[in-house]
Amino acid sequence: MLNIAVIGTGNMGAPMSINLAKAGHHVKVFDIVPEKMAPLKVHGIAAAEDHRSAVVDADIILTMLPTGVEVKEVYFEQAMQHAAAGSILIDSSTIDLNDAHAVHVVAKDKGFLMIDAPVSGGTAGAAAGTLTFMVGGSEHALNTASPALSAMGARVVHCGDAGMGQAAKMCNNMMLGIQMASVVEGFHLARRVGLSNEKLYEVASSSSGNCFSLTAFCPIPGIVEVSPSNNDYRPGFSTDLMLKDMRLALNAAQQKRLDLDMAPIAADLYQQFSDDGNGDLDFSAIYKMLE
Ligand code: NAD
Repeated sequence: MLNIAVIGTGNMGAPMSINLAKAGHHVKVFDIVPEKMAPLKVHGIAAAEDHRSAVVDADIILTMLPTGVEVKEVYFEQAMQHAAAGSILIDSSTIDLNDAHAVHVVAKDKGFLMIDAPVSGGTAGAAAGTLTFMVGGSEHALNTASPALSAMGARVVHCGDAGMGQAAKMCNNMMLGIQMASVVEGFHLARRVGLSNEKLYEVASSSSGNCFSLTAFCPIPGIVEVSPSNNDYRPGFSTDLMLKDMRLALNAAQQKRLDLDMAPIAADLYQQFSDDGNGDLDFSAIYKMLE
């Protein structure tokens, strides 16, 4: 069994830590907000006093942090300073592609194996241990990290070299964000021309309009049991997280001089909805804004 340090025990990092402990690993966590670590104690998870004591004897260091700012800070100023030689670094946060590359470069310089391994599956997948990991890095690094990944997820896709896990996550979520805008507009048009929500769902979900935004996040309450719309649009996947991911995609496109047409429009919808104070609602709730 491995010594695993988890840095960042928020909505995702906490349940992921619990699954690592359930798999028999020795888990030590650190979060700058001590209350985030307290509920993990009953699962046999130790709360470290600081970054250094979390990582110093770890075989694997897993970070689950908000953005690339915190990820660079934690690796450059803490983890890479104090981790034992030979520790494997796994960053599962969703971060900017440039930040991911920057951390990989320094990790390589310092002799650490590293993978970027952002996830899909949300908090429910994190709790159930059914996350999908999108991995960037060498095959050797992935194989070495796999005992930890298999404790937290059901599927691992090796997307390519350093940064390609983040690239996959960014493209996928941009597609999801655009899809939701199309689903919402489909329901609004249906209503305007007198077609019921139920009939549109019945047709679209089994024909060419079918997509994940329709079948897993249906914005109309009362149609898909598991959809956040049935729970007052409590996430699910919050508007602010969707907005963050859309912005990561738009930044990458801008840097590569790629003109995207649909993504900026969809991102503006989520931005407007968030500016109106709805950032905590599921991203499917933009249905209400366009009503
Ligand atoms: P969160 O805000 O709940 O958790 C982040 C945690 O990091 C917080 O507890 C915070 O206190 C801690 N933290 C911040 N800076 C720190 C530092 N310097 N050192 C130690 N701890 C620090 O966020 P989350 O929902 O758990 O998401 C984490 C990452 O996973 C994000 O990048 C997010 O985009 C991604 N993600 C989230 C979901 C989701 O459904 N929540 C799904 C897929 C991916």
